[in-house]
Amino acid sequence: MPEGHTVHRMAQDHTKWIGGQRLSVTSPQGRFEQEAILLTGKVLKSVEAHGKHLYYTFGAKHTLHVHLGLYGKFRLHKSPPPEPRGAVRVRFVGSDHALDLNGPNQCKILDKQGVIESQARLGQDPLRADADPERVWTRILKSKQPIGTLLLDQSIIAGIGNIYRAEILFLNRIHPSRPSKSLMRDEFDELWQTSIRLLEIGLKYNRIITVPRESTDKPLSRLNAQERLCVYKKDFCFQCAAPIESWSLGNRQIYACATCQH
Ligand SMILES: [Zn+2]
Repeated sequence: MPEGHTVHRMAQDHTKWIGGQRLSVTSPQGRFEQEAILLTGKVLKSVEAHGKHLYYTFGAKHTLHVHLGLYGKFRLHKSPPPEPRGAVRVRFVGSDHALDLNGPNQCKILDKQGVIESQARLGQDPLRADADPERVWTRILKSKQPIGTLLLDQSIIAGIGNIYRAEILFLNRIHPSRPSKSLMRDEFDELWQTSIRLLEIGLKYNRIITVPRESTDKPLSRLNAQERLCVYKKDFCFQCAAPIESWSLGNRQIYACATCQH
């Protein structure tokens, strides 16, 4: 499943490709046929990301809410697009570009109130200007869950996935199994700042890069997959050379250095 930076990048790219245009909207697969009729011929006013969710607003009554989930995928084409490939739920056709959406987990039209309710169910997204870290802190203070589990809870922090949680905790020297409420305020502040910084780098380079700039001679854009991360799927800690430990936490595999992360 894409992490938040990928979804924000999609919002930016889709705005660039088809935003501000009167679109033809269809559902080659048929499952979105009735809804497509409501959107076709309307101007796509904005594309917004919140965590792992996308909102395509065509007007006060019509916002398309998309959550890709595990199997959802967008495919970009030049206009006019070729024959649909597979089960295309939604096809947007603009003047120069077209986008096909296959296999989304959620794909539904919401009105303005529906958008407010949908976003209220999501946690604070470090990449959004309206994110309120105080609301995350309030939840952390009350939580008996390990911080490694809490970071994956999209109703608390939206957009952090399995790779980012391991990397963020490593860089802040916090052990993933620590009870969330044992965090000090300054530890949380640093954790939040690291989340913003790493997601912004991810958004800019369109990939997860967490190694500190000073630890590499190469430009960040030229790092290979092995060089981009500090702890995720690593055998040894790049700071102290101790073996990296791995176990299941919050139903996903976590990676940590027991020496560097207390
Ligand atoms: Zn270490």
